[in-house]
Amino acid sequence: MRRVYMDHTAGMPIDERVLEIMIPYFTLNYGNPSSIHSFGNEPRRAIDEARSKIADLIGAEKKEEIIFTSGGTESNNLAIKGIAYRNKDKGQHIITSSIEHMSVVNTCKHLSKQGFKLTQLRVDKYGIVDTEVLKKEITDKTILVSIIYANGEIGTIEPIKEIGEIAHEKGAFFHVDAVAAAGQIPINVQDENIDLLSLSANDMYGPKGTGALYKKAGTPIMPIMQGGGQERGLRSGTENLPGIVGMGKAAELMKIEMKTEAERLSKLRDAFIKGVLERIPEAYLNGHSTMRLPNNVNVRFSYIEGESLILGLDMEGVACSSGSACTSKTLEPSHVLLAIGLAHEEAHGSLLFTLGRQNTKEDVKYVLGLLPGIVRRLRAISPLTPKDLVT
Ligand code: PMP
Repeated sequence: MRRVYMDHTAGMPIDERVLEIMIPYFTLNYGNPSSIHSFGNEPRRAIDEARSKIADLIGAEKKEEIIFTSGGTESNNLAIKGIAYRNKDKGQHIITSSIEHMSVVNTCKHLSKQGFKLTQLRVDKYGIVDTEVLKKEITDKTILVSIIYANGEIGTIEPIKEIGEIAHEKGAFFHVDAVAAAGQIPINVQDENIDLLSLSANDMYGPKGTGALYKKAGTPIMPIMQGGGQERGLRSGTENLPGIVGMGKAAELMKIEMKTEAERLSKLRDAFIKGVLERIPEAYLNGHSTMRLPNNVNVRFSYIEGESLILGLDMEGVACSSGSACTSKTLEPSHVLLAIGLAHEEAHGSLLFTLGRQNTKEDVKYVLGLLPGIVRRLRAISPLTPKDLVT
């Protein structure tokens, strides 16, 4: 049976070129980068090189502005709690949006229980943050604005530069969760007024469990873990050397291949969306048609459940998802789909396909060949389906 993996936002295969460069750091170069003896030299050099490559991917001025972490979740925690705890004397107001990843949502919720005031900006039906509302909500007491660069679930890309400008006019710091966007679309932290930016290696065909936080020089944050003082005191713990080396290589490859791959994926994405909307009645696109990540297809079908569609497709070898992997185990509809104004049943009828390097035109054709039949079968047994749609 043909196997088609279209769930790249949940997990990506590691690029073999990345894996290859990591292996010696498990076996030969196992020294600790903090050691004074010569076993520490190569690890120190390798970490430095990885830092430069990540700085290069996002247009950071200096490699020292990159802090390695255990992934996107930790980077988001470090950025948000780090700013909140360090700057609470200036103000206790944090602004975020209603379509953030759970690692931002729950970190902000945690802070609000400790007395911080939280404003969640609503988004429009495409998932775009309204900058006029931001201008109204931001005050001199706002210490942080945290907005996702692009939502991995609906693919919508936010007006980041403009949001950063508004934050800075009021003296607030600007954090961006770029886990889903980095390597897919160009990012430049200096041009886009970004003070802190979260990254995760696995979303760039690197290893799971490795991430980074960009922190513009001079941005004051408090560490959230106490220990040996690695990463200039901001992230204690022995460095994940193979992971860091792998993340550096992954960032380098993403930068080189981004333009070509984004063009290729955008074409596949658009053909996929067009094919679904043409072939299936009462099918709709979630998110924006052009302000969208190149790899993201999120569509919804009336009268049926996304979970049944996933199982139907899985039986034919196709892997996709109903939303974020982090929340897919709950029966609750995705907060992102509700935030763009979908009713519960519309959110439940949504399917997320995230494309990747190994996907081809043939894969899209294969899925487009299967989907109408599966939708028809499920609609035929759904009590909600109007009669004229099944006959
Ligand atoms: N933010 C976004 C937008 C994500 O998609 C993810 C999951 N890939 C995360 C944060 C969390 O990253 P990690 O799983 O590396 O902790």
